[in-house]
Parts: sequence; C-alpha cells; structure tokens
Amino acid sequence: MFEIISLSLIILTLTLIFLFKHKKETTVGKTDMKTNELLILRKTESFARLPENLKTLSSIYCATLLSKLTFEGCRGAVPSEEIKVLTTFYAGLLCCGMKTLSPYSSLKAVLIYPRHFYSREEGGIGEDNNGYIVEESVEKIGESWEHGAVILSAHEIAEDLKNPEYGMNIIIHEFAHQLEFACPCPPHDNFDRKLFTQTMQSEYKSLCEMANAGEDDMTIDEYGAESPSEFFAVVSESFFTIPIALQQAHPDLYRAMQSYYNLDPAEWFRNRHPSHEASESPDCPRFEQL
Ligand SMILES: [Zn+2]
Repeated sequence: MFEIISLSLIILTLTLIFLFKHKKETTVGKTDMKTNELLILRKTESFARLPENLKTLSSIYCATLLSKLTFEGCRGAVPSEEIKVLTTFYAGLLCCGMKTLSPYSSLKAVLIYPRHFYSREEGGIGEDNNGYIVEESVEKIGESWEHGAVILSAHEIAEDLKNPEYGMNIIIHEFAHQLEFACPCPPHDNFDRKLFTQTMQSEYKSLCEMANAGEDDMTIDEYGAESPSEFFAVVSESFFTIPIALQQAHPDLYRAMQSYYNLDPAEWFRNRHPSHEASESPDCPRFEQL
C-alpha cells in the first residue's frame, strides 16, 4: 500500500513538473501584447503583407521588444503606443530571418524626439565666425549607439510611413546599424559572405560615383554614399520598403541583402496585398499627439 502511494506521488510530481515546464515553453511563444497594441500591429501595412509564419514570429518579437525596451520622450515628446509598436515591429522584422533577437541584447532604450535633434559629431570640430574653435553640432533625425540606445524623430517616422514609395524608413535605418554593430556575419546558414562582401563593395563604389557625378539612383538614397555603414542602412530601408524596385534595379544587391537578412520581401509584395484594414495613411491621427 505504502509503495502504491509513493509511486502515485512520484507520478503526480513528474506530471506537475511536465505541465509546469510545458506551460513555461508555450508562454515563450505567446504574443503577450495588449489588445490595442495588437490592433495597431494588424493595421500596419508592412505587417499585413507578411506570410502567416512571419506574422506570428514578428508579433512575438514585437511583444518581446516592447517588454524589453524603455521608450523615453525627449524635448516634450510623449512616445505613443503607435510609435512603440511600429518601432518594435520593424526592429523585430529585421531579425525574423535570423530567428533571434540576440543582435539587440545590449540595446536598452529608444529615445523619441518630436522632430530633429542635435548631436555632437565625433571629431566634428570647426571654426566659428570669429575664428574660435568650436565643436560642431549636427542636425539629425535618427541615431544608433553601439551600446544602449537608438534615437528616433517621431516626425520622421510619420513622414516615412506616409510615403512608403520613397523607400525610406528611419526605424529600419537605425536598427540596421544595430545589426551591423552586433553581427557583421548574421547567425544563419544561408549567409553567403563572399557574395555579400563583394557586392556591397562594388555597389557602394557605384553609388559614390553616381553621387560625385550628381546623378540620382532611384532606389538607393544618396546618403548611402556617406560610408559603407550608411550604405548598408540605406539599402536595408529600400530592401524592406521598395523590394521589387530594388530587385529590378540592383538584382545582385538584392541577392546580397537577401543573403544577409535571410528574407525575401519582394515575395511578400508580389504575393500578398495588405488587407483593407491596414493603414499607414498620411492623415493617421496617431502621430498628432506628439
Ligand atoms: Zn545612419
């Protein structure tokens, strides 16, 4: 009798351990978002285009980043729920092909400014009108620090979403810098390092030549000619916002980015149309409170 009771207790304990463990594992995969955060996400056009598996993964990443990152308003800005959801969604989207958010492990905060802000450039020393040496302040709409923070202009976020056809997205730009800091070699097996390095070098050179000649590239912003780092961030914007145009104009570059991100956004744009619910419309009131 005693053995039966002992055996039953052991089985009960093991069952409880299993159930507890299973509950913990399923909780990890759950999107722990508030209803209104989910509503904002579903209304985001870029989310609505995604295939189902990426909708699931990106919403998990969005929820994880929402709970991990601190949003701080600067110069009177109050980061709205829309700003928080859009920022964490696009940040998470960049990592979906890598299946990990580890590139953001040292990231703690997102600082939101109402419009532009000023930043002291490293080595930015100049002379004022009286010949005094002064540190130069540079007007910016976004900044990415190697450790700790991303800074974004709320106005710029709204402007980019209003005009997706321009291929610009300050959130993608600044979080692409985070990836570049954390993982020059992305953590997945489909990365072709040789293709990526050679293509980035030759395409960067071409953009610099065009910029020097005063010519525009219709799919890559001229700011990409500032440095290889800016080139990667600017091309990341085009890759996720105007992927078909980028693929048509720069097929090798598109392949290189596809190899880095392990994603194929052109397919999302060809195969899926955002539902009528989705809206990143110009007059969307969500940014007006900023
Ligand atoms: Zn940049």
